[in-house]
Amino acid sequence: MGILEKMRLDGKKAFVTGGARGIGKCVATALAEAGADIAIVDMDLPVAEETAKEIAAATGVKTIAVKTDVTSQSEVDAMIDTVLGSFGRIDIAFCNAGIALNVAAEEMTYEQWLKVINVNLNGVFLTAQAAGKVMIKQGGGSIINTASMSAHIVNVPQPQCAYNASKAGVIQLTKSLAVEWIDKNVRVNCISPGYIGTDLILSNEGLKPLIEKWNAMAPMGRMGKPEELQAIVVYLAGDCSTFTTGSDFVVDGAFTCI
Ligand code: NDP
Repeated sequence: MGILEKMRLDGKKAFVTGGARGIGKCVATALAEAGADIAIVDMDLPVAEETAKEIAAATGVKTIAVKTDVTSQSEVDAMIDTVLGSFGRIDIAFCNAGIALNVAAEEMTYEQWLKVINVNLNGVFLTAQAAGKVMIKQGGGSIINTASMSAHIVNVPQPQCAYNASKAGVIQLTKSLAVEWIDKNVRVNCISPGYIGTDLILSNEGLKPLIEKWNAMAPMGRMGKPEELQAIVVYLAGDCSTFTTGSDFVVDGAFTCI
């Protein structure tokens, strides 16, 4: 089988959290283009439904939309039941939902800290654990978590200690799950994107004036596009990456190199 054929995901079943928009939507589209059926999992059901319809129309795969808050164990469990009810199995889990909060450490309330840790770290744990249980029973699968370059560096000038800590946690969680599930044929990897032009940044008025500063710091002089994360996730999802587990893939245009 040639490499491009091997990259295909035909017949595989995937879910993508935070899949309604941004990186999740873009990666879900790529997984579908590679042939996987896709569950768009998000808090925002109308947008998730729109995204699911759009992807089905463009690619011909089966898609569903599932309203889920990844911080709720019961909602995550219900989502897994819904996906299994529609697709019968789960081969690929892209645990990607995340939020950012820019508050100085000395002013951050405990509630604000908890909110970020809950979505970005606890949400990834709940989702990956639930997917892992299904994959262990099935005899295998691939989990890809979204960390961030903020797991590796401290972004400036905006303060974001909870975000940075949550993303560092995602990397070590990824490695831990990979080792625990090594003999179950469940692979667990994560991606660490640099700044990517999505709503997370572009619809945050407070961050807009900073884009020029970040671009001045960036070796490539620009932010990344969500499309520039598609291929790495398709690779990790499928059968080209069978020796790849417990790895973090930094995709940042060399931002963290300097
Ligand atoms: P967006 O804000 O564009 O999209 C995130 C999606 O996740 C939204 O649809 C949002 O829904 C959803 N979401 C938020 N909270 C929850 C929740 N509790 N349960 C289910 N879904 C939820 O962000 P991006 O696409 O930019 O970010 C995706 C991931 O990539 C995040 O983990 C982020 O931290 C990470 N990342 C982003 C970078 C960037 O520069 N953009 C850089 C590095 C990492 P709603 O809109 O309803 O809140």
